[in-house]
Amino acid sequence: MLTEVFEKVWQRSGGKCECARPSHNHSYIKCNKKLVREMQDKPALGGWKLYQHFAYGGNDVSAYAVYCWECYRKIAEE
Ligand SMILES: [Zn+2]
Ligand SMILES: [Zn+2]
Repeated sequence: MLTEVFEKVWQRSGGKCECARPSHNHSYIKCNKKLVREMQDKPALGGWKLYQHFAYGGNDVSAYAVYCWECYRKIAEE
């Protein structure tokens, strides 16, 4: 994944969790939890993971999403 693609995904998220799974019962349409860029892959406050929708995302911006640690973990458990 190119840094450029990573930038676009992060910009699109606005630094917030993009998860919109109905099963998570988010108060609004999206989770919107505020995240800290430097906290990628860290299971702490502001931590988040880059979620990949398909096995081979390549450099397609739409193949990725920014998920907070909690949402990411829930999806992994599904
Ligand atoms: Zn979330
Ligand atoms: Zn969620």
